[in-house]
Amino acid sequence: MKCKKCGEKASVNMRQHKLALCKEHYLEWMPEQTERFIKKYEMFARHEKILVAVSGGKDSLGLWDILTRLGYHADGLYLGLGINGGINYSHESQRLTEKFANQHGLKLHIVDIEKEYGQPIPVLSEISHRGHGKPCAVCGLAKRHEMNRIARDLGYDVLATGHNLDDEAAVLFGNTLSWSADFLLRQSPVLASTGGLARKVKPLCRFYEREMTAYCLARGIEYIYEECPFAEGSQSIYYKELLNKLETDRPGAKLTFYLRFLEARKSGGLFVEKDSKQAHLHPCAKCGQPTSAPELCSFCRTIEKAKEVMPTVTPT
Ligand code: SF4
Ligand code: ZN
Repeated sequence: MKCKKCGEKASVNMRQHKLALCKEHYLEWMPEQTERFIKKYEMFARHEKILVAVSGGKDSLGLWDILTRLGYHADGLYLGLGINGGINYSHESQRLTEKFANQHGLKLHIVDIEKEYGQPIPVLSEISHRGHGKPCAVCGLAKRHEMNRIARDLGYDVLATGHNLDDEAAVLFGNTLSWSADFLLRQSPVLASTGGLARKVKPLCRFYEREMTAYCLARGIEYIYEECPFAEGSQSIYYKELLNKLETDRPGAKLTFYLRFLEARKSGGLFVEKDSKQAHLHPCAKCGQPTSAPELCSFCRTIEKAKEVMPTVTPT
């Protein structure tokens, strides 16, 4: 297989794009494509300040690397969740994130949930009785809350996450199976800023997971291979496996599934957009982030509840 651009031996073959490239041209192609997506979906402009949520995994570190190579002002935010397990997941992911930031001279904000709120995620989850024995519900809530908080407090225009096509297709698949109209209408590469929250963007949403892996390997980016120990057996991993089977037989199926959805959504052909709940949002009495709950947002209520059980939990 030869590189389409220079005729040298190809090192990456993307059947779904009918495109093979050598390492050098692959490393040019990824940022070019990312820039194209940023413009196509009007994610952000050159002068805007971007906060990249980095977890130490290939997608977020790859995203940070690409945005920096493209010359954007992108700083990182790492959230210490206090998740350990056999591989000491949080410790190792923080180490690799810090290493990347130091190597490239990038600014990294680190927020440790335990230091901020008195307990790590697994304990907060246990004492708040949310999420049926898995910390993912509280973890997701805390991540969203803290990303919004830091972006707002430090004056970032945009919050960028490393969701790739496999992530987006799995979420879409799940929401389609249950026809969750509200979630489907909200799934987008760009979520406009509302009620004081920063705009949220997913510049990698059209890259396959294996394209991100190939990028990080080619760039020599050291990232954490292991998944969070709580991800095991999750629904999204199951959906990814199903979609991978489909992709093996029909290269490009995942991308078509996602892109056709975006087209249908944009043309208004999916659902009639209601005058959504946005109108009923108001600031949380504690943290000021928008919520539809009467007084405190879900995150602050979780912390309050945890505080009742364990007085060491720090109020928001
Ligand atoms: Fe958080 Fe781990 Fe669950 Fe992901 S899998 S939401 S990191 S607890
Ligand atoms: Zn080439």
